[in-house]
Amino acid sequence: LILHHPVLSVEAGDAFIQPFRDAVNGTLGAPYVVIYEGSVADERIAQRHGGYWCAMGMNLIPEGQEKGETVHPVPTAEWLRRLAEGSAATIAIGTCATWGGIPSADGNPTGAMSVMDFLGKEFRSAFGLPVINIPGCAPQGDNFTETVFAVLLFLQGLGPLPTFDELGRPAWLFNETVHQGCNRAGYYEEGLFAHHYGDPECLVEIGCWGPVVNCNIVKRGAINHLGGCMAAGGPCIACTMPGFPDKFSPFYKAPPGGILSTTMSRGTGAVIRRLRRLSNKHANREVRWDKLEHVPSGWGHVEAQTPGLKLMEFFYKKWQHWGARKPGRRAGEEERFWGVERPGVPSDYIDSSVAEGYPDDRR
Ligand code: SF4
Ligand code: SF4
Repeated sequence: LILHHPVLSVEAGDAFIQPFRDAVNGTLGAPYVVIYEGSVADERIAQRHGGYWCAMGMNLIPEGQEKGETVHPVPTAEWLRRLAEGSAATIAIGTCATWGGIPSADGNPTGAMSVMDFLGKEFRSAFGLPVINIPGCAPQGDNFTETVFAVLLFLQGLGPLPTFDELGRPAWLFNETVHQGCNRAGYYEEGLFAHHYGDPECLVEIGCWGPVVNCNIVKRGAINHLGGCMAAGGPCIACTMPGFPDKFSPFYKAPPGGILSTTMSRGTGAVIRRLRRLSNKHANREVRWDKLEHVPSGWGHVEAQTPGLKLMEFFYKKWQHWGARKPGRRAGEEERFWGVERPGVPSDYIDSSVAEGYPDDRR
């Protein structure tokens, strides 16, 4: 496997460009994959002014000698057009290449577009694949390497063709929304929302579009499973989406559609939150402490259970164990302990040897 990259390759000048020419001429002698980063500017606009937007290498123009122009930069769009058809696969990486991204935002001067827009709906690589899209601004690195690896395994006949969605995204990476994997989704559900950057709650009211955006960065992390937008405190601005950036700006405003769902989760969350707090109090007590009605913590005073809470817990436990076996011994086995008479009276929680010198007389 050989990587030809304008920055990472060791070769420069003609030595660097030659394999590209060989690939175009069909003399490379090996299958190749095109990986294209960045949007494709409309070179016709630049040509009208005698220039170019983005180029790599030079074309010899023998007929231009009279004008003193013997070479002309080859636009990268031209390379893409020449190379894509003969490629085993053409992969667009990053939102500029997959959907046009920021360079193709409304009002741009370059007429920039995505690889898919440039090559058209009918495009198929030599192995019959449409453009594969791995969006993100910047794209998540593991999403890229994992997809390239899966495609290479397929091209080598060592694995199945990975599943792609109708836009050519790796389906297993982009089929869920940011919100579905967000580490702040619990706050959203309980109706708790951040008002300022740096607040720990859900960021929807300061501009997060996560509920409608396909991206796995919070689940996967940005680098080495660490970071990711919400983990770092940033609202989702939908950088992986075809509608980015125009459909999601201004980035600092709450998405209009969020008003309905946040109002609803505020209402239900207010009730659910309070009920969960009660359950949380219950879960924060050992069963032993409940029996002894005492919490031996040296860190602070833990409130005793109120009669109302005890009553609620009684019914809660009844419901919890409905149709299931309750922890502990069955009726009639209370005095048995691993097949023998069990020590400790009147219950395991008050073992007389432990209770020696116990401050309260709870025996
Ligand atoms: S921060 Fe965004 S993605 Fe996370 S829970 Fe809130 S709305 Fe959903
Ligand atoms: S969470 Fe949103 S802003 Fe962050 S990488 Fe994913 S799509 Fe882009």
